[in-house]
Amino acid sequence: MAYDWDKARPPDSLRFFESKWAKRSDPLAYSGVWRFRELLPFAAPESVVTIGEGQTQLQCADAVAKFVGVKPGRLFLQYEGMNPSGSFKDNGMSAAFTHARAIGARRAACASTGNTSASLALYCCVTGLMRAVIFVGSGKIAYGKLAQALDYGALTIQIAGDFDDAMQRVKQVSQRLGIYLVNSVNPFRLEGQKTIMLRVLEALRWEVPDWIVCPGGNLGNASAFGKAFAELLELGLIPRVPRLAVVNAAGADTLYQLYHVRGVRWNDGEPDAAAIDGFFADMDRQKRRAETIASAIEINRPVNLFKCLRALAVCDGVVREATDQQIMDAKSRVGAGGYGCEPASAASVAGAKLLVEEGVIGADERVVCILTGHQLKDPTATVAYHTTDQDQFNKVLGSRGVKRAAFANRAVEVANDLDEIIRAIQLYS
Ligand SMILES: *Cc1c(COP(=O)(O)O)cnc(C)c1O
Repeated sequence: MAYDWDKARPPDSLRFFESKWAKRSDPLAYSGVWRFRELLPFAAPESVVTIGEGQTQLQCADAVAKFVGVKPGRLFLQYEGMNPSGSFKDNGMSAAFTHARAIGARRAACASTGNTSASLALYCCVTGLMRAVIFVGSGKIAYGKLAQALDYGALTIQIAGDFDDAMQRVKQVSQRLGIYLVNSVNPFRLEGQKTIMLRVLEALRWEVPDWIVCPGGNLGNASAFGKAFAELLELGLIPRVPRLAVVNAAGADTLYQLYHVRGVRWNDGEPDAAAIDGFFADMDRQKRRAETIASAIEINRPVNLFKCLRALAVCDGVVREATDQQIMDAKSRVGAGGYGCEPASAASVAGAKLLVEEGVIGADERVVCILTGHQLKDPTATVAYHTTDQDQFNKVLGSRGVKRAAFANRAVEVANDLDEIIRAIQLYS
């Protein structure tokens, strides 16, 4: 989506947005998305749909910095789990809803690994503007997310297949029935997600960090972040762009394979189509399917692949992959020293650690890792990591190649006896 900035007349300094802080009773100034609406000027102010999304925090997390290998004060966690539905998806959903209402849509659909559906279901039930139809792969959705969709009253279609199967079906169905599609193929969602970067800059008093590190699934975030920085640079609102690191799960590493291993680049809008088509043809022939504990990024064919290649070009990007072992260990460190996150989010921290070990990220650099979703989204993974029950560990994590829970905080089992309880507390604390 390209704007005519001469017409939109954006502010000439990012400090302009500080004027909104005194107007919290105005929903447009309160929303962490719409207080930046001058930078996503596709909607008239009176048409905006908001439920108060984007009240998120940039946490300076020294305990996590130590794990990652950067100096104290240099590692920041952008905690998007604080959104109304518990993930960053709400940033984009408010923008998509704004557009959907403008065109008079009555039903909205998505395929989802869980968080898009939770967000869609929430916006539908709170605003009453549309009916939610969500498609999920069977057994592929974390319980916290499924619980949300059901509780919020969405029509939930569970199909035999994974995310990519659900995605294909929802595209067909929404075309046939004229249902509004809110997956991140929807460009308005990316407009809303740009504001995650604006809030990062805001929290850093408008200073540009050295690195933005995010998990890569459908690559909507990476694409939106690149677009945000390209526009800010074009408008003269920032002096330089940060570098961007996108981190795949090793079990769902399409971008890593294409960008890092095969060297596919944006190439001024003409990426190597033969290399990309060949990669997917191999994937189909070998029947390779994404498989990772980080279910939110368990995706074979990222829908925003091209836009992400552009973002990587804009931000001198790198792509890495993290194993489920690395992801779960990083997640436990975030849980112990940050506000907590779900497995997919921890790919950002695991990736940052890898890049520090490689010397790509320096220990002095300012690094912002995006924590995309709330800790309580996937309690199964968290409990399996910390459990003393080997069967449960094996079923959830061992089956995905996780060998040990290096940072497990195991519950202490004690008889229901006061003396024994007191002895245990004195022994372990
Ligand atoms: C959707 C989602 C992702 C993937 O984001 P993309 O923009 O599709 O790459 C990562 N983490 C969580 C928690 C998500 O819900």
